[in-house]
Order: sequence, then C-alpha cells, then structure tokens
Amino acid sequence: MRSFFIAIILLFSGISISAQTNSIDDSLNIRKIYDMSLLNGKSYAWLDHLSNEIGGRLSGSHGAEQAVEYTKAELENLGLDKVWLQPVMVPKWTRGEREFAYVQTAPGETRNLNITALGGSIATSAGGTKAKVIEVQGIEQLKEYGRENIEGKIVFYNRPMRADHIQTFEAYGGCVDQRYSGAEEAAKYGAVGVIVRSMNLRMDDLPHTGAMSYGDLPNDQRIPAAAVSTNDAQYLSGMLKIQNDLDLYFKMSCEIHEDVQSYNVIGEITGSKYPNEIMIVGGHLDSWDLGDGSHDDGAGVVQSMEVLRLLKETGYEPKRSIRVVLFMNEENGLRGGNKYAEVAKLKSEDHVFALESDAGGFTPRGFGITANDTQFKKILSWKRLFKPYLIHYFERGGGGADINPLKGGNMVLAGLRPDSQRYFDYHHAANDTFDKVNKRELELGAATMTSLIYLVDKYGLDNINNETVEMPD
Ligand SMILES: [Zn+2]
Repeated sequence: MRSFFIAIILLFSGISISAQTNSIDDSLNIRKIYDMSLLNGKSYAWLDHLSNEIGGRLSGSHGAEQAVEYTKAELENLGLDKVWLQPVMVPKWTRGEREFAYVQTAPGETRNLNITALGGSIATSAGGTKAKVIEVQGIEQLKEYGRENIEGKIVFYNRPMRADHIQTFEAYGGCVDQRYSGAEEAAKYGAVGVIVRSMNLRMDDLPHTGAMSYGDLPNDQRIPAAAVSTNDAQYLSGMLKIQNDLDLYFKMSCEIHEDVQSYNVIGEITGSKYPNEIMIVGGHLDSWDLGDGSHDDGAGVVQSMEVLRLLKETGYEPKRSIRVVLFMNEENGLRGGNKYAEVAKLKSEDHVFALESDAGGFTPRGFGITANDTQFKKILSWKRLFKPYLIHYFERGGGGADINPLKGGNMVLAGLRPDSQRYFDYHHAANDTFDKVNKRELELGAATMTSLIYLVDKYGLDNINNETVEMPD
C-alpha cells in the first residue's frame, strides 16, 4: 500500500523530481567551484604579480600599461575562445614630487602634516601656497560663512565618515562630496586651496587620495586640493580651536597631461546555445598610485579572471557567452566603462547580465542586485545553495561603476558585496598592498561570483532565453 502511494506521488510530481535532481546537481557543481578555487585557485598568484611585480596602475602610467599586457597574456593562457584589447583614450595625471605641508604654530615653529594630492588637482604655485585656514563640516557650510570669511583662505573640510553605518560605503557616500567637489565649490567663494579629511574610518597617519573635479570652473579659478590623514585632521582641528589664525603651507607639483591610449582587456567563452546573449564579469585594472591597488581593485580583477577559469576547469559549458572585462580608468574618468557600453551599443550586442567586484577582496557576504521583481525573486530562490558558504546577503540595489553605463531595459546588474568593515582602512592609500588581502577570502569571493554566473547561465532570468527547468521553492 505504501509503495502504491509513493508511485502515485511520483507520477504526479514529475516536475518537482526533475527540480530536485537539478538542485542536487547545483549543490554538487557549486561545491566543485568552491573546492577548485580554495584548493587550486589562481587568483592569489595573479594578485601577487599585479601588486608586487607591477604595483600602482594609474591610468596612463607604465604600471597600467604593464597590467594590460600581463592580464591579456594570462587570459590567453586560459584557452578562452577569444581574448582582445578594446582601445580607449584615458586621462593622464601625475603626482610629481612628494607633497609637503605644515602648520605654523608659533613664529619659526612648524609641525608637518601628512597630505597627498587629490587625483586631478592642479599644483600649488612653485613656491607652495600659504594661507589662513577655515574649517567647515561640509560644502553646505560654505554658504553659511560666505565669501567674506573664505576669500584668500584654505578651506579645511573635516566632516568625518560616520562610524554608525554598518555598510561603510554609506559612510563614504555621506562624505565623498567634500573630496570630489570641495575644491570647485570653495573656489567659488575665493578660497586659495582645499584640504580634505581622508575618507577613512580609522585614526591613522595615512592620507587617502581619490578623484576630484573642478566641474566647469575656468582654468584661472582652479585651486589645489589635497587630502590630510585622519590623525592630522584631528590635530589641525584641535589647533584651530586654540589659534584660529594659524597659517597652513602646502606644496604639490602634480600635473594634468594630454590623454593617452589605453585599453580594456576582454576575454570570452562563447556560449554553446545562445552565443548572442552576453553575460559579463569584471573589475577595474587601473588603481591609485600610492599603494599597489591590491584591494582596489586588483582583487576584483583576479576574481573576475578566476570566474572564467573556474567555469572551464569544472567542465561547465556555458550556454551564453561569458566575458571577463577588465576596465581601464575607473578611478579618475570611467572612460573604460563608458567605452565598453558605447561599443556594445554600436554593435547592438545583447548584454543580459553583468557582475562587478569592486569593494575589496574581503570575505564575501553576497550580492547587491539591480533587477525587476521576477528576476530578483528567481535569484532569491538560489539563496539556499549559497548557505554552506555563509553567503546570505541578497539585497536590491547594486552593480558597479564600470557596469552601470550598460544599464537599461531588463538587464540585470549585480555587485559582489564583501564584508566592508576594513575596506576604508586601505582604500586609495599607501597601505593598499598585497599583504592586506587574505588568500582564502579572495578565493571565496571568486567562487561566490562563479556560482552566481553559473546559476544565471543555467536557469536564465526573465530577460533571457529560459529553460523549462525550475528550481524547487
Ligand atoms: Zn575601485
């Protein structure tokens, strides 16, 4: 009698049995991906080379050029179907001599400050810039003080990153306007320079650089801009409370040059069934010049390369074309991301899914996802496959600076979300070096990305060709 009921159940649940089988297959395939990444991964060795043999890779630098050649050669070694360079003109900015700054605390008495030029800043005059300082807690406060208090002074932006944000990128988002637009706005009030508290949640002596812009300001109104370490920002703020007519001196010799030729590096496994449906995974090849760009974004670069290698090594044959795209110039221009989207549009390429890793090589937690309701629900149905790997974060909203220009229609964008607590200890600073990246954390990230790519390719989303196979709820 019992076997009769089982037979009836089996008869009426053919679909769910095939779904169960799929689910078991998926668990095993994902296990294989993680095993391969942790036992036999390549990402860490690639990062070692990018960080320690090449180093900083600012757009237009020799390092950036070497990184293009190296990653192209490594992708060729993987035996992908296609590897190519996509030409893109990029801005070139050089830091010049090491920056120097001090405050004068008494006649003949000075104390040095740790500063670094912001990317894109002009130099100070050859002899340096010396002026009184006015501290503000953000761009909004310029208006409050008005031209009468700001003209002829150096504006010191000192709003700190908020420590109570659990997602540290939100704390960054709450401050970074001071760095990006601080000089442009202060110049409108007649300031002669700008010093910005580093985007760092920790107190230390390292200044953190990053992109800034003068917007539409004419050349003769532009003023030099630097970041100061968090310790020195605190010191300066304390001194100004005692002595508000303090003189600050800084000297920088950075330079903006003509645009130069560079490249996005692209590799592809051509889809076996739907070659015209393109999924991409990527990070950015350029980095700031102070450190080696190991977390930002060497980690994302090698993880993205590893996705294609792991798919090949585990014997999975993607139905859709899967590309790794190593974007040039994310940090100070986004020319690579824009160029890739422009060419995709020109060729009417059908991009259905993009995944970026650009939040450091830390323990992966999950993904931020930009998708419609149906697509998001489907991705959520895969969540339990990630449970053994402690991947639990599947939230709406996400992507990445380089893949955002592709946005449109029903395309799905996702960003790997690693633990972000330590990211801003290193972000754009001299200590973003190889030793700060943990091998296992990096490899877990690569496997997590590969697993998502595998599932999207296998099951599709509502914007792409769908198989009849379904996952059980
Ligand atoms: Zn980055």
